[in-house]
Amino acid sequence: MGAPSWAIYEFVCVACGNKYRGHFNTKFCQRDECWSRRAKRKSLTHNFKQDILERDGFACQICGARRNLCVDHIVAIANGGSNDPKNLQTLCRTCNMKKSYKRDWSHLGKTP
Ligand SMILES: [Zn+2]
Ligand SMILES: [Zn+2]
Repeated sequence: MGAPSWAIYEFVCVACGNKYRGHFNTKFCQRDECWSRRAKRKSLTHNFKQDILERDGFACQICGARRNLCVDHIVAIANGGSNDPKNLQTLCRTCNMKKSYKRDWSHLGKTP
C-alpha cells in the first residue's frame, strides 16, 4: 500500500519459475509458452482484454498514456490477424487512430 500504481515489481512465474518484472502479479511471465498457458486458463472471450491491459501495465504501448486505453489487434482480423495475445496490444485512442490511418496507407502499398 502507498506504492505508486506505476511501480514495477518482481514476481516469479508459476510456469517456469523465472523472475519477471511487471506492474501486476500476473502469475506467468511473458514468454509465449507461459503466457499462453495463462490465457488457456481463462475463457478467451471473457476478460481477455483485461489480460492484455494488465500485461501491458495499463499503458499505451506507443506513447505510454494511461487514459482512454483500448486493446488493438496488431494485425487486423481483416488482414488475417488472430485474437492471440501476441497479436494484441494496449493503445490509447489517439495512437490507435493514428495506427489505423497508417494501416490504411500501408495496405495500399502492400503486395501480398
Ligand atoms: Zn514463465
Ligand atoms: Zn498512445
